[in-house]
Amino acid sequence: MTAVHVPGTPIIEDGRLVSTSPATGAEAGRLPVATAEDVGRAVDRARAAGEWWAGLGFGGRRERLLRWRSLLARRIEEIAELVHTEGGKPVADAVVEVVTAVEHVDWAARNARRVLGPRRVRSRLVLAEFSAHLEYQPYGVVGVIGPWNYPVFTPIGSAAYALAAGNAVVLKPSEYTPAVGQWLVDTFAEVVPEQPVFTAVHGLGDVGAALCRSGVDKVAFTGSSATARKVMAACAESLTPVLLEAGGKDAMIVDVDADLDAAAEACVWGALTNAGQTCIGIERVYAVEPVFDAFVGKVVERAGRLTVGPDNADIGPITMPSQVEVIRRHIDDALSRGGRAVLGGADAVQPPYVRPTVLVDVPEDSAAVREETFGPTLTINRVRDADEAVARANALSYGLGGSVFGRRHAVAIARRLRSGMASVNSALTFAGMSTLPFGGVGDSGFGRIHGEDGLREFSRAKAITRRRARSLLPSTTFERTPADVARLVKAIKVIYGR
Ligand code: NAD
Repeated sequence: MTAVHVPGTPIIEDGRLVSTSPATGAEAGRLPVATAEDVGRAVDRARAAGEWWAGLGFGGRRERLLRWRSLLARRIEEIAELVHTEGGKPVADAVVEVVTAVEHVDWAARNARRVLGPRRVRSRLVLAEFSAHLEYQPYGVVGVIGPWNYPVFTPIGSAAYALAAGNAVVLKPSEYTPAVGQWLVDTFAEVVPEQPVFTAVHGLGDVGAALCRSGVDKVAFTGSSATARKVMAACAESLTPVLLEAGGKDAMIVDVDADLDAAAEACVWGALTNAGQTCIGIERVYAVEPVFDAFVGKVVERAGRLTVGPDNADIGPITMPSQVEVIRRHIDDALSRGGRAVLGGADAVQPPYVRPTVLVDVPEDSAAVREETFGPTLTINRVRDADEAVARANALSYGLGGSVFGRRHAVAIARRLRSGMASVNSALTFAGMSTLPFGGVGDSGFGRIHGEDGLREFSRAKAITRRRARSLLPSTTFERTPADVARLVKAIKVIYGR
């Protein structure tokens, strides 16, 4: 009996990785699968290319990265169409994704010199005879391992910053979206034809594991928390530093003085965009008792209007066929334990589609509240007040983003969320703000992409001191005399002893 191919599941045929549309099963990409030796060779080539790239300096890299940004902007329809075909997301969602990525390439290119370039820092009084100099140098080769849910935004969130910092990058795209990953490196090679500065290796998880063990100087991983643990374990063997952008279960808090229409609009988009397959997607809402019923009504009214289907619908197919069972299990578990579906429900699951589902009064210890669902579903639970909402939001080991709707206390509540990011009176907006760092806490990972922290993440601080005068209080020499030491003791008491 031959196995039936489920549309969307990647297959390997004659040494090629074949990706297919989760909506139609049509072939989307066919790329050679890399062996561990191929990965090693790609990293070797990248190392030489990286030296050339680093030698271009901030100005040379900026000019080339801005040319790539222009190309991405000019060909936005082309790449959005490929993202739609290969991953299934609506073209409009793909356009928004590419816009955000373009923004990050632009900011990283323009700001790398200011953030990372050589600068003098202040000397301290006890070492006043030395000047102090700081610069951030590239690692060399950065391995980027990506997921399928944002196949442009996530690799670029690491790669653009790594490249701007002067590194070469070897990308291992998700096996669900290899053609998108290849498109990114091919277009980069159009504007930087001289050297293989940004290249891709393709395959399943073992190719990602080979990249971790290939001698790259840093690994930037984006994907599930379970794989993040394996990546960190593999990198531990060679003390290769890692950046981990892992899963989430982000909460929205709706306080008593929230604008409920705005909150419902942002909630529906934050939870259901890309069919809910968003690491920073809203998966749980805690609404305070006085506004709970009105808020739920507004969410259901808006979510109920969304269209579901293959082309130009609001909600496309579930990209990874195996995820459909996870979504089904979460809905069934919530309902069997006393939760109620006020929209959708058990029969909303019609592979490869899942219709929007809103669950209320779901037990806090159910899978739908505690585990990443990654589907167009949402739980809304009532809480006494914002304190209870914060306690529940913070009760999970995940801590990626979050959202707060309210007026008087919203910013204070956002600060109290145990997460790397939060948006007040909007959802997900921090992801597109290239001036802000992006990353999580706990099971959501560590390290930061985007913004100044994102540039520093892909570089090593290099500290240099330089003598500018003779030492008046010589201490770091065997030539010092007892009188020098006595003077040092006196000086330190005068400076710090009060
Ligand atoms: P995944 O962990 O299954 O795969 C991610 C990548 O890791 C793929 O390229 C895969 O081939 C590779 N991989 C698998 N096993 C590996 C191994 N042993 N060593 C090295 N690499 C290996 O994740 P996914 O299903 O592609 O993506 C969805 C997940 O990503 C969700 O949990 C989502 O929350 C998370 N995500 C996080 C962020 C963020 O920024 N924090 C962004 C997007 C997605």
